[in-house]
Amino acid sequence: HRDLTEVDSEIAAELAGEARRQRTTLAMIASENYTAAAVMQAQGSLFMNKLAEGYAGRRYCDGCQHIDAIENLAVQRAKALFGAEHANVQPHSGAQANAAAYDALLDAGDTILAMDLAHGGHLTHGMRLNFLAKCYRFVNYHVRRGDSRVDMAEVAQLARQHRPKLIVAGWSAYPRHLDFEAFREIADEVGAYLLVDMAHFAGLVAAGLHPNPVPWSDVVTTTTHKTLGGPRGGMILCKQKFANKIDTGVFPGQQAAPLAHTITAKAVALKIAGSEAFRDAQRRTVEGARIIAERLMRPDLVAGGVKILSGGTDVHLLLVDLREAGTTGKKAEERLGEIGISVNRNAVPFDPRPPMVTSGLRIGTAALATRGFVTRDFQAVADVISEALLSPDDADSVPGLRSRVAALADAHPIYGQEIKDLPR
Ligand code: PLP
Repeated sequence: HRDLTEVDSEIAAELAGEARRQRTTLAMIASENYTAAAVMQAQGSLFMNKLAEGYAGRRYCDGCQHIDAIENLAVQRAKALFGAEHANVQPHSGAQANAAAYDALLDAGDTILAMDLAHGGHLTHGMRLNFLAKCYRFVNYHVRRGDSRVDMAEVAQLARQHRPKLIVAGWSAYPRHLDFEAFREIADEVGAYLLVDMAHFAGLVAAGLHPNPVPWSDVVTTTTHKTLGGPRGGMILCKQKFANKIDTGVFPGQQAAPLAHTITAKAVALKIAGSEAFRDAQRRTVEGARIIAERLMRPDLVAGGVKILSGGTDVHLLLVDLREAGTTGKKAEERLGEIGISVNRNAVPFDPRPPMVTSGLRIGTAALATRGFVTRDFQAVADVISEALLSPDDADSVPGLRSRVAALADAHPIYGQEIKDLPR
């Protein structure tokens, strides 16, 4: 019963360091968020001790009355939030949600049409080294060179040519809405299932700020920790006719016992995602991304070779194109990291540089909106980012930029009142 500090001082020290890092820097990695204290409380609860193999009401062990009630609540909340006929809240992660869904719908060797990783897709959409690429035959669609938007004509052409059994619409790095209706039409034409992977934009969908893929799709997969703001994990929504196959695909197909504590945290997050406060944060998220994109499209930045892919954003992230700027994705990531803004370098479509360097940055606003950022804060952070990118090698500007970031972080403390013992 001893405290972590007594049991393991090395880990406690790193935890304190991470608390300081999160408190004093700005999380702008597009897949990150600051989850609610209540979600962390649920995740760290004594459901960590509970085996709950099976599904609510159909477990293979004793003592599941409380986790049954929680899993049922999580499922009901997920269905209500997204208007889905069926929900499975057990996937340990977004990758496992995709693996389970593919397994439910396909046979080994079947063809999947999905977005190229280099154009914004995910590892589970056919990246060569991912396990799923050994199980299925992937064909990839792309964005157009001119406007960086998904080329629906190419999607249709590839679908007719390769007759995939599954089409995946969804992305990890794409700043625009997808046309789900058009994907549905193509899927119907070639007799394919349609799966939308809304891992990134699920929170926007929940808030009504993004088209809902559920009505158009056979299956929708997601993570629960990005814009949705919950614990790290995955979730699958589907039409009732796929319910049994999906459930079997998750357990026993991919996983054994579910993470009872994470399901508990998902249930809490799904309740929060139905609140007005959550919708307000999602509105500020989209507004913040637009403010930063517009700031980075001002003439002085454009003259410096900085471009915004697709000329703006509809979602929680923007993609900065540095192919013609005097810096690389790697250098820009380091430059922003040095002043306390955490982002990730990202290959842009048709990127001439290798993946460890890249010519792009992916910048997201979900975490800052959760942190309470409003219009003027996003304007301030946009100014800092633009100044940092315009003078990539100016070491003298670092202290000034860093203190402006620190002031923004100070003005929006994380977990200030809610977690009393967060290390200082
Ligand atoms: N699908 C998409 C589109 C993603 O962006 C991610 C994010 O990492 C995943 C799936 C996988 O999620 P996880 O990292 O939880 O496995």
